[in-house]
Amino acid sequence: MTVNKALIIVLFLMSIACAPAAPMADDKIGAVVTVLPQVEFVSAVGGGRVDVTAMVPPGANPHTYEVTPAQMAKLSTAKMYFKVGSPIEFELTWLDKLTAQNKDMTVVDCNKGIELMQSWDSDEPGIDPHTWTSPKNVKIMVNNICLGLVQLDTVNKSYYEANRDIYLQKLDAMDSDIKLALAGAVNRTFIVYHPAWGYFAREYGLQQLGIEKEGKEPQAAYMARLINEARDKNIRVIFVSPQFDTRSAEAIAREIGGNVVSIDPEGRDYIDNMRKVAAAFREALK
Ligand SMILES: [Zn+2]
Repeated sequence: MTVNKALIIVLFLMSIACAPAAPMADDKIGAVVTVLPQVEFVSAVGGGRVDVTAMVPPGANPHTYEVTPAQMAKLSTAKMYFKVGSPIEFELTWLDKLTAQNKDMTVVDCNKGIELMQSWDSDEPGIDPHTWTSPKNVKIMVNNICLGLVQLDTVNKSYYEANRDIYLQKLDAMDSDIKLALAGAVNRTFIVYHPAWGYFAREYGLQQLGIEKEGKEPQAAYMARLINEARDKNIRVIFVSPQFDTRSAEAIAREIGGNVVSIDPEGRDYIDNMRKVAAAFREALK
């Protein structure tokens, strides 16, 4: 064997020994979340170490969605489930069944430390489950996600914490921009078909009026009350979201000579989506 050949072999062996810890595709941690915005949160912290799937797919409604057999099968190989942890119907209905399907799966509660609030309409007792519409809550969720990943995969602690810090900075920047965008809002009351924006409204000093009552279409008398309120407060925009029927919102918009604007509380690209949401609010409330 020549010296050169021996050197090549030594270098080759060294390259194997010193190969970076980058995971192989099948080495990734299979993670499942409930709603699409959580995909961004878990991906942001987990980076190349996780493979994230949402149970409630794009356009589906997390208050009524039913798990498919294919999702059940996929779930049986997951290592972690990041639950929203608020009383969202999907988790109330399905989480026990999902964890029974995969008893080794670690369940992380994203809600730990978040202060839950009543639904927008105080006549109807109940908790608003849409915690992620407030960036402040998302920062708590992201910290919980990081703690969960570190607990399961401690050797990569510094990787997860560095990713977490980068994402928290992005959330802070987004939060400042939303505050700035809404600072000049003259009218601070808004009407929306599905009242998913309670935490957002509390955060930015707005008042939400929902058209939907307890998950149902409103009665005529209540519609009339909303129309009066919209006229009184000079509301010109009625918000809807892609997961719900828009007819009653359109009926109110026609009555007040306003228009309907769609904002998505379950957008997959959270930060981009929330910037669009803020722009829609700024436009509607000026
Ligand atoms: Zn909802």
